[in-house]
Amino acid sequence: MNIHEYQGKEVLRQYGVNVPRGKVAFTVDEAVEAAKELGTSVVVVKAQIHAGGRGKAGGVKVAKNLDEVRTYAEDILGKVLVTHQTGPEGKEVKRLLIEEGCDIKKEYYVGVVVDRGTGRVVLMASEEGGTEIEEVAEHSPEKIFKEVVDPAVGLLMFQARRLAYAINIPNELVNKAVKFMMSLYQAFVEKDCSIAEINPLVVTGSGDVMALDAKINFDSNALYRHKDIVELRDLAEEDEKEIQASKFDLSYISLDGNIGCMVNGAGLAMATMDIIKYYGGEPANFLDVGGGATTEKVTEAFKIILSDQQVKGIFVNIFGGIMKCDIIANGVVEAAKQVSLDRPLVVRLEGTNVDLGKKILNESGLNIVAADSMSDGAQKIVALVK
Ligand code: ADP
Ligand code: MG
Repeated sequence: MNIHEYQGKEVLRQYGVNVPRGKVAFTVDEAVEAAKELGTSVVVVKAQIHAGGRGKAGGVKVAKNLDEVRTYAEDILGKVLVTHQTGPEGKEVKRLLIEEGCDIKKEYYVGVVVDRGTGRVVLMASEEGGTEIEEVAEHSPEKIFKEVVDPAVGLLMFQARRLAYAINIPNELVNKAVKFMMSLYQAFVEKDCSIAEINPLVVTGSGDVMALDAKINFDSNALYRHKDIVELRDLAEEDEKEIQASKFDLSYISLDGNIGCMVNGAGLAMATMDIIKYYGGEPANFLDVGGGATTEKVTEAFKIILSDQQVKGIFVNIFGGIMKCDIIANGVVEAAKQVSLDRPLVVRLEGTNVDLGKKILNESGLNIVAADSMSDGAQKIVALVK
């Protein structure tokens, strides 16, 4: 689960991570009021969307007086920001962070992530702050330093110190940087984050070490033990179809292609997306209906796929193990009845109750293209949507 920058900074503040003072604003008046309250000569107006790259897209503006705050707030609120992380359709700005302006001396990068390779939490840092870390990784990977954390003892002070020296934090500020990293790591672990990225971390003119940006994501499997975090969820930032899917406990991720996929099992779902791509198509979604799905669940899944206007055809690829083929068949028929199925449908069924499943589909009167195998099905749906 993703949250806004201002919420992330609030969480970090609770752990003693140094962040600028600031306040969220939903209207232009609130923005001006917040700036008055801050009382600093320079105020930064920042678009709050669940995506980075706002600065380059015009979503971060430095205001030198209240009139400028008003002008920038009017300009940014309601605007659709297109950044490299939003996709071409962009995201509408509905909230602003009004924050005290910071006298930046230098920008750095610090991130805490789960490294799948080592199966451990890794603290990463770089002197190349402000720019995208992916770019640094590509062009000057030697400028990214890492410390792997042993879960039995947690992040150790010497590791944080080693990182601080590696990225050339000024000597007199190393202790502050160490405290910053230790606190960031503690927040990451205690709040069950999947990523906590500070880009930029800055050293200020007055000798402070501060987080100017905060991208914090949480492991959704652990949200049941963080009621306070769940309250920060902003549904307006999430994909309508994904919200609907989560209500029915379906693993669904919306993608950019035009072939809707309904599959059981995450591995098969990934393989199905791969094979669609292999034959020149583009999947419109990842969808794992799970092992013990009911007809109702399958019906919902099918409706969610069909509600995507981009979808030009559907590929159902089921290997019936725990999930029985007749349940899938019933779900498909039920959903097709409820929402008129106006797009080509290719079905590949195999496994438990496959004959019964095929019979249900054959007798449904629906226009279904049967596939003999996974690659046969993929080729058929790719041809049909072209
Ligand atoms: P994004 O990563 O989405 O572009 P950031 O929060 O990193 O947004 O802001 C972009 C840039 O704007 C930062 O790298 C920094 O240079 C500047 N900036 C952000 N917040 C402040 C602030 N409070 N004071 C001064 N400059 C800021
Ligand atoms: Mg940033």
